[in-house]
Amino acid sequence: MNPVEEALKIKDEIIAWRRDFHMHPEIKYEEERTSAIVEEHLREWGYRIKRVGTGVIADIGKGKKTMALRADMDALPIQEENDVPYKSRVPGKMHACGHDAHTAMLLGAAKIIAEHSDELTGRVRLIFQPAEEGGNGAVKMIEGGALEGVDAVFGLHVWHDLPSGIIGIREGPFMAGAGIFLARITGKGGHGASPHQTVDPIPIAAEAILALQTIASRNVPPIETGVVSVTAIHAGTAFNVIPEEVEMKGTIRFFKHEIGELIQRRMGEILEGVTKAHGASYRLSIEELVPPTVNDVRMARFARRVAEKYGLRHDDVEPTMGAEDFAFYLQRVPGAFLTLGIYNEEKGIIHPHHHPRFDVDEDVLHLGTAMEVALAFEFLR
Ligand SMILES: [Zn+2]
Ligand SMILES: [Zn+2]
Repeated sequence: MNPVEEALKIKDEIIAWRRDFHMHPEIKYEEERTSAIVEEHLREWGYRIKRVGTGVIADIGKGKKTMALRADMDALPIQEENDVPYKSRVPGKMHACGHDAHTAMLLGAAKIIAEHSDELTGRVRLIFQPAEEGGNGAVKMIEGGALEGVDAVFGLHVWHDLPSGIIGIREGPFMAGAGIFLARITGKGGHGASPHQTVDPIPIAAEAILALQTIASRNVPPIETGVVSVTAIHAGTAFNVIPEEVEMKGTIRFFKHEIGELIQRRMGEILEGVTKAHGASYRLSIEELVPPTVNDVRMARFARRVAEKYGLRHDDVEPTMGAEDFAFYLQRVPGAFLTLGIYNEEKGIIHPHHHPRFDVDEDVLHLGTAMEVALAFEFLR
């Protein structure tokens, strides 16, 4: 069985599925329609199904080893601005990250694997997960047993930063860990004309924001990476009133757990020092959302060998400060998160992920399917 030839045979079917999902986007934990379609196909092809909310776990074959393939199914709360026949039919919702393509590619792989299940020497588990976009759907799937008995796990993301058709593979840290923070600086409000009778939290917040920039520039070792971004500030209502409080929100990113801890510790120290210097107080809460996505070196090399064996074009892919909840699977089971280039200037497919005009080069989706099928059969060999 040649996975590339098999995938090419169902190329149009994969595109049709992708378009259907694209027209009917569902955001995190609302993937009712999508998961129902996925489940129906999988049942028809002989998979053993376990539902985890709007997620689907599907097994086929048996044997000593189990390998898992994961696709995420959720869309984003974005109004699509593409003018294409398969444009989103749902106002304010759009598959702007490519999870429609992930679901379609893995469905394609499911079909091929089922057709050749007599050649399987182990078990293949497919994980169709909800809520990758800020919902940590991966955690729900793991709690629902998605990784029980699994020896290796692979995921595939369509990738704007790679030319169409190239499979991107990286050994080790690939995507950042991410957290969100909320900081509140409390002073003493009063008349805008009498600052001396107040503790004005606005200049204190300004000082704190500038000082937070020194975490990345002065505290994180230059050879490492870290991001602290204040992305929202709210304070005050009137031109002549000094407010009581400033509220700030933002995100932190890091590739190593130690750096994540360093950032969090320094944020606390800076806010404490700056507010104390001015007689104000602060509250800071930081929630670590997703750990860094770290590919197992052996599994990444295995993926490269698989791509080579079947003549699938592949290349290294640059790490990114974006985050991905696939990290939770990789914390527990060796595996790799791979990418499939979908950037195609000639077709005008040039907009980044989460952009209202994001699109994928559909003509290469079957290559993703081929890679998934090849990974499954080669791992279980
Ligand atoms: Zn995304
Ligand atoms: Zn995504």
